[in-house]
Amino acid sequence: MFRLKKEFLNRIIEHTRKGYPNEACGILAGRGGKVEKIYEMNNIDKSPATYFMDAKEQFKVMKDMRNAGLEMLGIYHSHVASHAYPSSRDVEMAFYPEVSYVIVSLQEKDNPAIRSFKINDGKISEEEIVCL
Ligand SMILES: [Zn+2]
Repeated sequence: MFRLKKEFLNRIIEHTRKGYPNEACGILAGRGGKVEKIYEMNNIDKSPATYFMDAKEQFKVMKDMRNAGLEMLGIYHSHVASHAYPSSRDVEMAFYPEVSYVIVSLQEKDNPAIRSFKINDGKISEEEIVCL
C-alpha cells in the first residue's frame, strides 16, 4: 500500500506532463509510510524511453532528506508510450527493495494511469495506491 495525498498525486502527474515527450522522474520522501515531500529530479537521459538521475542532484536530495528526518519512500517516473508497468530496465535498475516504484503512463495523455510497485530481486509486485 502506498499512501499519499491527492495533492502530491496531482503534482507527480503535472511534473511528468511537463517532462513530456521525455520520461520524467522524482523522489518521494516522507515519514511513517506517508509522503510529505516531492523532489522533482532531472532526467539526464533526456529520453522518451529511459530515465537516469543525476548523481550529484540525488546526493543533495539524500542529504536534504536526512536533515529533515525524512526517508525515501518512493521513486516515480513516467512512461510516455507504454503502460504503467515496470520495464525490464526498470527492474534491472531497481536498487531499493523497500522503496515503492510509482509509474505514470502518459500513453493516454489526458487520462494518465498511475500505479505503484515493489521490486525485489527481479520480482515485481503491485501495491495499492491510497489517496488521502
Ligand atoms: Zn520505466
